[in-house]
Amino acid sequence: MAACSRCSGSGKVECPKCSGTGQIDDGQGGQKTCFMCNGTGEASCPRCNGTGQEP
Ligand SMILES: [Zn+2]
Ligand SMILES: [Zn+2]
Repeated sequence: MAACSRCSGSGKVECPKCSGTGQIDDGQGGQKTCFMCNGTGEASCPRCNGTGQEP
């Protein structure tokens, strides 16, 4: 099995919502925890669904 070309086999990608910071703009000049990744800054790879293997 080949490693996923999107995440290089890690199964994780940078969260597209917060760009990996885990924080997003709250619209009032502050920051809040990213709702997409719950503050981890990581998202499950959409290509391999988190398995790390090339589909
Ligand atoms: Zn995020
Ligand atoms: Zn992947």
